[in-house]
Amino acid sequence: MIELEEALKRILSTIQPLEHETVALTEATERVLVEPIMSPVDLPRFDNSAMDGYAVRAADLAAANAERPASLQVLGKVAAGGVFADKVAAGTCVRLFTGSPLPEGADAVVMQEATRLDPSRPDTVWFLEAVRPWENVRLRGEDAKRGAPLAEAGDRLTFGQIGLLAAAGLLELKVSRQPRVGLLATGSELAEPGRPLQPGQIYESNRAMLAALVKRAGAQPDIFPLVPDTMEATCSALKRALDRCDAAITTGGVSVGEFDFVKAAFEQLGGELNFWKVSIKPGKPFVFGRAGRKFLFGLPGNPVSTFLCFELFVRPALRLLRGLKDAGTVLPMATLTQDYDYRTDRPTYHPALLDATAAGLPVNVVRTTRAPSRVERRRPLSCVTISTK
Ligand code: AMP
Ligand code: MG
Repeated sequence: MIELEEALKRILSTIQPLEHETVALTEATERVLVEPIMSPVDLPRFDNSAMDGYAVRAADLAAANAERPASLQVLGKVAAGGVFADKVAAGTCVRLFTGSPLPEGADAVVMQEATRLDPSRPDTVWFLEAVRPWENVRLRGEDAKRGAPLAEAGDRLTFGQIGLLAAAGLLELKVSRQPRVGLLATGSELAEPGRPLQPGQIYESNRAMLAALVKRAGAQPDIFPLVPDTMEATCSALKRALDRCDAAITTGGVSVGEFDFVKAAFEQLGGELNFWKVSIKPGKPFVFGRAGRKFLFGLPGNPVSTFLCFELFVRPALRLLRGLKDAGTVLPMATLTQDYDYRTDRPTYHPALLDATAAGLPVNVVRTTRAPSRVERRRPLSCVTISTK
C-alpha cells in the first residue's frame, strides 16, 4: 500500500501528452493548443467607424455647439464592406455606418444623433457638437497588432479565444489529441439500467457517472458492455478497450475476492501494474498500470469509491494526457460546518456539500483535515459537490 502523494506522483510521471492533431476552429473548444498563435493581421484590419454617423475632420467642428451648429458638405456614403474612393477635405464629411472604413482625410466620427439634416440643402449636415480627434473610431490594430500573440501553447481554448482567432481569419488549429477513455463495469450482479432486475441484481451506475466525468474532463468516453466476473470475460473486455482507447477505466473487481479479475487479466494481456492499493478511505484497492502507451485505472466498484478515485487519480491524468501542464491536483481546503468524529488511520473522504460562495472557492471533493473544527452549520453532509472547472 502506498500513500496518496506517492500514487499521484507515479501516475503523473508515467503520463505524457497525446500526439498533436489539427482540428477545425469550430471543434476546438476546451482543446489544448500545442503552439502559440500570432495574429496574422492587424485587428481591426483598418480604421473604421464605431457608430452610424459622419466621418469628419475634428478641426472643422471645433467651435460647433447646439446654439451655433457647424455645417459640412456630404460627399457621399460608405456602407459597411464598402470603401470611399475620394478624400475628406476641409469643410466636407462622409456618411458612415458601424464598421464602415474611415475615409482618408477624416480623423473622427460624429454619431448621427448629434447631427441634423438641412431640409433645404440635401447635401448639407449640421453638427450640434464638437468631436475629439479619433473619437468613435476603432483604430487599426487596437485589439491586436499583426504578430502579437493571440493564444499561448498550453492554453485551453475558451469561446472568447475562439472568436478572436476566427476574427484573425484562422480556420484550423494544432491541438493535443483528445483522450479516448474506455469505460468498463465489472460485476456479475450488475444489470443494464432500463431492463428488469433479476433476483440479486442491481443497476449498473458507474459507467454513466464516469461518462459524465470524462466528458467534463475534456476527454471522450467510450462505453463498453457489462463484464461478468470471470477471467475470460474480463480479459476480452479489457483487450477490446485497450485496443480502441488511450486508457481504460474499470470499476469493481480489484479487491481480494475470488471474483476479482481486473489485475490478473491486465497482466495476462501484457500490462504492467505500477501500484495496487492506496492509503485512502474509501478507494483503497485502486490499481494503476500501463500496457505500452495505454493506461489502466482500476477503480473499486462502490460508486462513491469510483467517484473519489476518478477525481483523485483519473482527472489529473486526463489533464496531462490532453496536453495541459497543470494536473490540477491541489484540492481546495474547506472548513467543516459541523463536528465530525473521524477516527481513522488513513486520509478519509466524506461526501459533503461545499458552499463555494461562502468559501470563495471553486468546489471540489472535500478532504477532511485531522483537526476538527466547528463553524455554523449550513446543510447536512449528504452528497458530494464538484468543481465546474
Ligand atoms: P467491488 O468493487 O466489485 O467489490 O464492488 C463493491 C460494491 O460496489 C458492491 O456492492 C458492488 O455491487 C457495487 N458495485 C460495483 N460496481 C458497480 C456498478 N458499476 N454500479 C453500481 N454498483 C456497483
Ligand atoms: Mg465486484
